[in-house]
Amino acid sequence: MKAVLVREPGGFENTRIDDVQIPKGDMLIRVKYAGLNPVDINTIRGQTNYRIEPYPHIPGAEFVGTVEERGKSKIFDEGDRVLVYPRLFDGICDHCISGREEICRRGGVIGVASNGGFAEFYATDEKHLFQIPDELDFLDAVSLPVGGLTAYHALKAANLERKERVLVVGASGNTGQYGVMLAKAMGADVYYISRKSWIKKLGGKPWSGETVDVLVNSLGSGFWEKFMNYLDTGGRLVTFGTLTGTEGVLNIAFLYTGERKIIGSTGGTPRELSELIQLVVRKKLKSKLWKVYPVDEYSRAIANYDKRDGRIVLRFS
Ligand SMILES: [Zn+2]
Repeated sequence: MKAVLVREPGGFENTRIDDVQIPKGDMLIRVKYAGLNPVDINTIRGQTNYRIEPYPHIPGAEFVGTVEERGKSKIFDEGDRVLVYPRLFDGICDHCISGREEICRRGGVIGVASNGGFAEFYATDEKHLFQIPDELDFLDAVSLPVGGLTAYHALKAANLERKERVLVVGASGNTGQYGVMLAKAMGADVYYISRKSWIKKLGGKPWSGETVDVLVNSLGSGFWEKFMNYLDTGGRLVTFGTLTGTEGVLNIAFLYTGERKIIGSTGGTPRELSELIQLVVRKKLKSKLWKVYPVDEYSRAIANYDKRDGRIVLRFS
């Protein structure tokens, strides 16, 4: 099968389209589309916050497709449209049994800790699969497993309540778009920071210095100190990304005197992915798609990543 293959650690120059063996597993998925996210770019560069294996490596954390071989599954039929929960989890460790599969002791991000979905086929098991409802087309569904789920889990982790004020920094990014839409759908008063004018269609208002109850800051160092000051007493900062660096300064007095909280968040749970699919259908939420590239043009997709004006998706079949 055709796959995007990182042949050795460290860089686009070591990455090409290659012909590799179809993987083996309980079930086989024919990949239709895959979303391009910062985690994939970092994986190709060999610069993630996680260990990358194996090499040669197929990246791709976020993808959708159809069931090609159902194996022994009693839930799925061949041809079913499915999205893949983007984390490995064993279902038996202490975190998994308390419903926190995203931090499974033996888990990891698909496409980082294991080969991923930037390929024509992906082998998995039914516990990683979700049916795509008829109301959702593939191109809407493909943004849910990483972009949508990361934002949804972060807002839940921050205990966002109706009428609370939330600020989403970097709102036009993959998770930022969902941060705005989902916070709005949860009844919050949403502010955003973005250079893109289309962001206003997603709901919310441009931020102009308001203090907030929840700050969604996935950008890391460059935005850490500056925005912390706008967190109200009792406020929660939730973070899940380090695009501009991994270190930040913290005023400890500011934190405890106002009983503010800093919350780390990563991915989301299978249960949340199921809730998210329902929510997105009910509220008709769609992120902005910029371009779909056939897999043979993956290098153009990656080269244009920093120029993107909405989501970039790779097409595999
Ligand atoms: Zn586990």
